[in-house]
Amino acid sequence: MSQPIPCLALTFLLTLPASASSPQTQHECAMDLSPQEAAAAWRQKLRGAYELPEPTLAREGLGTPDSYVVPLTFHVVRRSDGTGGLPPARTAQAVIDANNAFAGSGIEFCLAGPIDYIDSDEFYSEINTLNEIDVLRSTNVVPGTVNVYFTETLDYEQGSLCGISAFTFSPVQGIAMNNACTALPENPSTFPHELGHYFDLLHTHEPFYGFECADGSNCADAGDLVCDTPADPRLGYDTVNELCEYTGVATDFCNTDSFTPMVDNYMSYSRKECRDIFTQGQRDRALATLLNLRSELALPFCAGGISKSCTFPVPNSVGATAQLSVTGSGLAAENSLLLRTRGLPQNVLGIYLNSQTVRDPFRPSGSAGNICLGGQVGRYSAPSQVGFSGPSAEIELQLDLSATPTPLGFVMVTAGQDWAFQLWYRDAAPDGTATSNFSDAITITFI
Ligand SMILES: [Zn+2]
Repeated sequence: MSQPIPCLALTFLLTLPASASSPQTQHECAMDLSPQEAAAAWRQKLRGAYELPEPTLAREGLGTPDSYVVPLTFHVVRRSDGTGGLPPARTAQAVIDANNAFAGSGIEFCLAGPIDYIDSDEFYSEINTLNEIDVLRSTNVVPGTVNVYFTETLDYEQGSLCGISAFTFSPVQGIAMNNACTALPENPSTFPHELGHYFDLLHTHEPFYGFECADGSNCADAGDLVCDTPADPRLGYDTVNELCEYTGVATDFCNTDSFTPMVDNYMSYSRKECRDIFTQGQRDRALATLLNLRSELALPFCAGGISKSCTFPVPNSVGATAQLSVTGSGLAAENSLLLRTRGLPQNVLGIYLNSQTVRDPFRPSGSAGNICLGGQVGRYSAPSQVGFSGPSAEIELQLDLSATPTPLGFVMVTAGQDWAFQLWYRDAAPDGTATSNFSDAITITFI
């Protein structure tokens, strides 16, 4: 190969007969841009969707952590009799591979619930078309999470695939992974590669916008649109040797310069065992995609889901609205959840409340604010739990999930339960008479 592969050659490559099952001859994935996808991505680029937002704009009220946790749902396809399927050690390794790859990016991943086993011979061994892959990716979808399907065969019209993902603008969402390309010592990189696509990273050799010059002069508008990934002539097992060295001799169309591609970049088609880097530019684009285009996935900690209610608290005597945030872990078994309310008057008493039921905002008599907790409302009213806002005008409470107060006694929070929290606090009416008020409320789906 002496030249980068132009689009026509790419089409030719994709129309080769079905390849053998060896990962070396499998198609890495099916995520080169179509004209419609390229146009959609360009529109998003023009409106700044791939620029990191100002920190103050990110997830207002839920805090701006150093790192956001993206919840994953794993669907493991087995035979109809329940045998086969990716074993638990490999699903666990897949999460490790993802977190190793995205370390330092501001994105972490966690499993948001138990593994969903799909027992189906059709899905296990008879996926042969993109349409069938899309049917699989539409099965048992858990909203608010990245749905990942692991199956034994992942063929489409052009052969066998290692994986297929979804851009933010793709009509069918979710990731499908071939077990033969998942969480293996010789291939820890395909799953992070597909996650990269999920956050709108393109192949480093992406040809649609034109080939990137080897000197990088057109990097902002060509190739993968990320400037710190050098031009990539479309790496492959024929141009990267077993020592992870580039052996290609292609020259670019701009100045017939030689390429110096990154053989270790996750978004290339280099050898799978060689890929272990996202550049800072790729990390920033992925984080911007998460915050701007998939913000429902940007959780402050690992949980099955987080939502707010009573989102417009009544302003208090200092003209502020009390905002509740949570940090720690939504894993019930970790028992590590901290509630913090800001925007309080100074030196007032507050008591956190909980309930497994949320209702429409309701103003109790004698209060200036609204409560959104319904049903059985528990109170953290033990002496060690009652809060005082002091000069910082904040009240924190570290919860003990093993002894959660309810009107019927203490209970343990367990995985799968929804619990809502809200702060009641003392306040003064405009005429100085004593009243009370409430923060907004947060509901957490524990995992
Ligand atoms: Zn890809």
